[in-house]
Amino acid sequence: LERTFSIIKPDAVRRNLIGKIIAKFEENGLRPVAMKKIHMTREQAEGFYAVHKERPFFTELVEQMIASPVVVQVLEGENAIARNREIMGATNPANADEGTIRKEFALSVGENSVHGSDAPETAREEIKFFFTDDEIV
Ligand code: ATP
Ligand code: MG
Repeated sequence: LERTFSIIKPDAVRRNLIGKIIAKFEENGLRPVAMKKIHMTREQAEGFYAVHKERPFFTELVEQMIASPVVVQVLEGENAIARNREIMGATNPANADEGTIRKEFALSVGENSVHGSDAPETAREEIKFFFTDDEIV
């Protein structure tokens, strides 16, 4: 079984969508094996999104991620990384398929409700960024 890292972003937490989003994961074969609600610091958000620091939307992205709490999770399942990306849908909700989280819940390309790791190496790094081994059960 593979593991991936997920964030339920501030826009979704504010709109009381935590349960509906976790239901999507569980209905599609992804089991939460670690979870916590946190309010990210600016340092955490900038570190987490460091790969995007030269992008024009970086400041906006960091501001959105620290505006209010998020839920961080480790999801486990068969092909969890790719499966999670499928369940999330396209980055821009205008391009997201029917039934995906972003199609149903996202507000815009910036406030797009969820984050999910894009590859095995980033999944490992992102899990380590927020969780210790003993928090994964
Ligand atoms: P994520 O990494 O959050 O799972 P992603 O891999 O689909 O999403 P990335 O290209 O990695 O998308 O961008 C990271 C995040 O930056 C996006 O989820 C979105 O919130 C924000 N973002 C990306 N492109 C734009 C844009 N053009 N304008 C505003 N925000 C953007
Ligand atoms: Mg990404």
